[in-house]
Amino acid sequence: MKKKICLLYGGKSAEHQVSLQTAKAVIQALDHQKYDIYPIFITTEGNWIKGPLLTGPVETVKQLEFHGGEKMAPNALSTSVSEGEQGGYDVIFPLLHGPNGEDGTVQGMLELLNLPYVGNGVLASSAGMDKVIMKNLFAQAGLDQVKYVSFIRSIWEKKPEACYREVEEKTGYPCFVKPANLGSSVGISKCTNREELEAAFKEAFQYDRKIIIEEGVTAREIELGVIGNDDPKCSVAGEIVSKKNFYDYKAKYEDGDTALIIPADISEEVYKKLTEAAITAFKALDCSGLVRADFFVTKENRVMINEVNTMPGFTPFSMFPLLWKHSGLDYPQLIEKLIELALERHAEKQ
Ligand code: ADP
Ligand code: MG
Ligand code: MG
Repeated sequence: MKKKICLLYGGKSAEHQVSLQTAKAVIQALDHQKYDIYPIFITTEGNWIKGPLLTGPVETVKQLEFHGGEKMAPNALSTSVSEGEQGGYDVIFPLLHGPNGEDGTVQGMLELLNLPYVGNGVLASSAGMDKVIMKNLFAQAGLDQVKYVSFIRSIWEKKPEACYREVEEKTGYPCFVKPANLGSSVGISKCTNREELEAAFKEAFQYDRKIIIEEGVTAREIELGVIGNDDPKCSVAGEIVSKKNFYDYKAKYEDGDTALIIPADISEEVYKKLTEAAITAFKALDCSGLVRADFFVTKENRVMINEVNTMPGFTPFSMFPLLWKHSGLDYPQLIEKLIELALERHAEKQ
């Protein structure tokens, strides 16, 4: 019996296009002898559109955008397998990044529908999406990280000067200003003075009512993949080398100015610190399935966690699949493993 996999992709977030790339790559990699793929495209307006059963790979992202197609209510997922098919989906694969997808909202709905799904549950997804909550949990778990401070828009609107002064006291320059709930470097600015800080606040508050400001560090950016449920395992480490000021949206998805070095050139001692911290971070957020744990490593070999991404990019150029490839799990095997972990976690809940 072929397994029925429902792919959710697109979505309302700023990472809509990235999600489409991921969906295309996953469809290409899935063994079509073993799996039937049911695509559900979520438009930028947030409409859910049921696509046709896919029996083979698709050539372009355009083929996955069913703008004029049949709309469905998200909670119709449990009954939306095409007519003539037996039973419901075996597993849902939410290939969604950012708010309304990677943040626990979709996961909550899937819990209500009692459907098995790939990746992190409600708590880990939402805690991982909010950089302030995530860092608070990391701090509690004893993980080393940069200094940070956070503000809410309405407070800033009333007393902007006081907010800027607090940043200057707590983090100083250079600092990074980020929307609390986003990814892919959207809305993030690096600031070296007050003028830039003011502009950065305005920019970040366009995306979120809450922002985080972090001390800027000069460090290598090293990332690890983690997969598993109760007994998570780490991949080899990879390094991002960007010619840019920082690893911004364009560097991530558009130009070839960024090199991924896998495995990263680090000592065994640093790798050990990284794996311990990655597992601690995974457990601190009660993760399941997968995360990519991102670190800053200074010249002095201080290992600081930057963030975990609960649904890291899966495009052919993405770090997470490449890390696993170098760790002995190629792309199709990785996807199968994630599906297995989803079914395992679902069975444990019953
Ligand atoms: P996102 O979730 O959008 O990926 P990150 O927090 O990872 O956001 O920030 C994006 C990039 O900005 C990082 O990969 C790094 O290049 C740079 N950056 C972010 N925070 C800092 C910091 N505190 N110090 C130095 N560089 C940073
Ligand atoms: Mg992120
Ligand atoms: Mg990041």
